[in-house]
Amino acid sequence: MVSAEAGIERVLWTEAEVAARVGEVAAELAADLRALPEPAVVVGVATGALLFLADLVRRVDAPLAVDFVRVESYGGGTESSGKPRITADLKVDVAGKHVVVVEDIVDTGNTLSCLIAHLEKKGASSISVCTFLDKPARRKVDIQLVGDGKFYSGFECPDYFVVGYGLDYAELYRNLPYVGVLKPEKYKKDSSN
Ligand code: 5GP
Ligand code: MG
Ligand code: MG
Repeated sequence: MVSAEAGIERVLWTEAEVAARVGEVAAELAADLRALPEPAVVVGVATGALLFLADLVRRVDAPLAVDFVRVESYGGGTESSGKPRITADLKVDVAGKHVVVVEDIVDTGNTLSCLIAHLEKKGASSISVCTFLDKPARRKVDIQLVGDGKFYSGFECPDYFVVGYGLDYAELYRNLPYVGVLKPEKYKKDSSN
């Protein structure tokens, strides 16, 4: 049997480091959400935010709703197409609500910008972003928060294609409890698309 770890070149953040940092981000977020007059809506971006969202919200002691959206811009490769689309929308009504978008990673910023515009159109009164990883070296568009929105980030990510803790390559590796760099030979064959 092949282990899920096969293909990982090196680990950037171990399971223990991830847990410790998620706890810190959750404490910061919880303090802000408790100060709001009504429950926030936490919007996870499927599928990558799955693990981070689950670990984060169970540590946030504040009333909140959880929902998911799906925004797709990547094919099976490691480069974004740059034109994200909302392919599955919210169930919860966010009009007049404080929304916290939970992402696995902010790379070019295209996905978040598209989603923030979408949530603003739905009438969210403020929009914060809580991302597990932030890769500022690759940013192409600034993230425009809305109202009193804040930007929360777990770790600053160096400019590698990383997998694990929700992040995939061709839908694999999401179940790794740590974050690692994929061996280049794992994606070299199709990185030209
Ligand atoms: P952006 O639109 O900011 O360029 O990209 C956001 C999305 O691209 C992320 O939510 C994630 O799905 C994917 N992405 C960007 N960088 C990486 C990376 O290093 N590893 C993985 N697995 N996905 C990434
Ligand atoms: Mg994502
Ligand atoms: Mg992906």
